[in-house]
Amino acid sequence: MMIKIEGIVLKIQDYREKDALVWILTREEIFTVRARGVQNSTSKLRQVCQPFSYCEWIIDKKENGLSLMIQGQAKQYFYLVNEDLVIQSLCFVISDMLSHTKIKPSIYDLFMMFLTKIQCKDNEVYGYCLYVIKEILIVDGIQPYVNGCIRCHNKKGIETLSFKDGGFLCHECNQGTQKMSKDELLKVYSLFVSDFSQHERLFQLYTFTLNDCLYWIDWFEYHTQFRLKSLSFLKKVVEMSL
Ligand SMILES: [Zn+2]
Repeated sequence: MMIKIEGIVLKIQDYREKDALVWILTREEIFTVRARGVQNSTSKLRQVCQPFSYCEWIIDKKENGLSLMIQGQAKQYFYLVNEDLVIQSLCFVISDMLSHTKIKPSIYDLFMMFLTKIQCKDNEVYGYCLYVIKEILIVDGIQPYVNGCIRCHNKKGIETLSFKDGGFLCHECNQGTQKMSKDELLKVYSLFVSDFSQHERLFQLYTFTLNDCLYWIDWFEYHTQFRLKSLSFLKKVVEMSL
C-alpha cells in the first residue's frame, strides 16, 4: 500500500550491499523503512536519507516485512547540526532516547523546534534541548517529583534533588546527597512545572547549559536502564573540547 509520510530522519544504517535502513520520526511513531540502492552515489534517495533532514516521502508500506522508500522530497535540511560535533552528538543522543520512547506529537514538535533553533544559531539551543528531554521524561513517567519532598511530601526545607529517589528531598529525609542552592532547585522546579508557552520567561531567569542536558540524559539512562551508546560518545567529545 502506497502512503505519504512526513518527518525527520533520525538515523541511517547500511543494509545489505547497496541499501540502507532509515529511521524516520513522524508525529505518531518512528517508522523504519528500507531505501534501495541508497549507497550508490547517484541514488536520488540520498538527499532524503540524511540524518536531521525534514522530508516528505512516498512509502510502499508492507504489512509483513520492511516497508520500502519509493521517493522523497526534502523540505528542510538542518545542516548546521552536522557542523558542530557536540551538537551533532547531542542530536544523536536525543535520537537514541526517542527510539526508546512512545512518540507523541508534542515530542515531535519540540524536537523540530530544537533543530530549527540550531539552524538559526539561537543562543538558547540547550534550553530548547531540555524541553525535548523533559517531554521524553514525562511521556516515560520518569520526570522528577518536584512538588515537595519525594519521601515525606513535606513542602518545606527542600534542600536537594536526588537522582536515586527521583525527586526533591527535604532536610530530614536527605541522607548524604549534596545540598543544592535555592536557585538551582528553583531552576529544576520551574523547568518541570512550566509548560512550553513560558519558555522565554524561563530563559530570561535561568541559564541552561550542556551540563543540564547531560544531567537529565543521565537521569533518563538511570531510570529507564537503557544504555545509550551515543551518550558515551557525546561525553568523550565534550571532554575533548574542554
Ligand atoms: Zn522529606
